[in-house]
Amino acid sequence: MLERWMQDKKRRLYVIIGIITTGILSISVIALMCVMVFSTQNANCWNDDTTIDDGGTSIGGDWKDPNSATHKAIQHAIDRFHKEIKMSGDNIAAAIAIGLRESGFNPKAVNPAGSVKGIWQWGAGGINGNRYGDTADTVQAQVQLAINELHSSHKATLIGLAAANNINSSMVAWDTKFEGVGENDPQRKVADTAKTAEEVKKVFKLDYAGDIDVFDGGNNDSGSSDTSSDANSSAMSDASCDTGLDTNTDGLPVKGKYNITGGYPNYAGLTGAEHYGADFQTVNHTMTGGESNVYAVHDGTVVAKSFDSVGGNWLVIKGTDGVFTYYGHAPTQSAIVVNTGDKVSAGQHISHEGQTGEATGIHVHFAVQTKDQYNWAPESKGLKSPGLYLKLPSKAGTNVVIPSGPFDSSTGKSDK
Ligand SMILES: [Zn+2]
Repeated sequence: MLERWMQDKKRRLYVIIGIITTGILSISVIALMCVMVFSTQNANCWNDDTTIDDGGTSIGGDWKDPNSATHKAIQHAIDRFHKEIKMSGDNIAAAIAIGLRESGFNPKAVNPAGSVKGIWQWGAGGINGNRYGDTADTVQAQVQLAINELHSSHKATLIGLAAANNINSSMVAWDTKFEGVGENDPQRKVADTAKTAEEVKKVFKLDYAGDIDVFDGGNNDSGSSDTSSDANSSAMSDASCDTGLDTNTDGLPVKGKYNITGGYPNYAGLTGAEHYGADFQTVNHTMTGGESNVYAVHDGTVVAKSFDSVGGNWLVIKGTDGVFTYYGHAPTQSAIVVNTGDKVSAGQHISHEGQTGEATGIHVHFAVQTKDQYNWAPESKGLKSPGLYLKLPSKAGTNVVIPSGPFDSSTGKSDK
């Protein structure tokens, strides 16, 4: 039985292999985030004020009992999945029920061989790889690990959850993409788990729709090495706060004649999710050649450069104005001609339009974030309309139709 369980857990390796990329980047991002937490925290930030038991021998009790440690642990996970990822009630009910199935929602749960650990029984070394890393055996740290993975190495789960419209399809997304088990694997205990999920939905009143942005976290592709090991890391993605936004007049991410092929945020991307950025496509766009060069829109420092399945090859600049800008879909990593740590100037050639990740044509996905470079998520996380930051032909704000181009980057006027 144990051997069989371990074999199934081993499948998670397939998910992990090949995505161990930027551990050092992860550490530097975490370090920067911690600095930001302590320097910018204010009362407007969402902070977890749920008092929960950190686990240990005392965690337990009937999860339906509001006074039990398990109930409080589940409430913590629900609040964060709801607020930080905007998972639907059904998505959350499925994730919680699977956590109950896997471990009784106990962050201290370890299988007898020590090869899987925690609420969702992550691989913890040996034959199963080591997703768990040095994550603390606490509810907070493990929910943070799950959130990090949903934004990076396990983004396929997020895409599946965004498309799921009931408990069963949510369970398929979590089981196949996060747990790494086959859809028909009897270990899923589909009937039992679905029943539990229905109960979870009722007990915790999870009657809300979701609004997952699958583009969220495009700069957090640190793969399985991003393990966010402690309570500090748990707090960091919530607590950095908006630094405001002044209009930038130093240029656009492209030069010459261009079209805006995706606006903000009223353009539905491939998955139908809202699109938190603007897509710029030069008229003479190609995979190579100077007419499709991508330029920094402000002075700053390259703070991240990586690849994921949504943004493709991307980089992030932290501007001297305190704003973070994101440039996605470059054809290759080497098409990004700057490196992490490089100082860049407004107007400097940094990358190239391309079609890697989720992109339907050659373009650059450009996004603006005022809080940190960690979340490319809804506005509550600091994401701003590029139309509020750049001098665009027309403000591409909510429910504003993108004006038709082509435009000229030097005038901002339509060039038809
Ligand atoms: Zn885009």
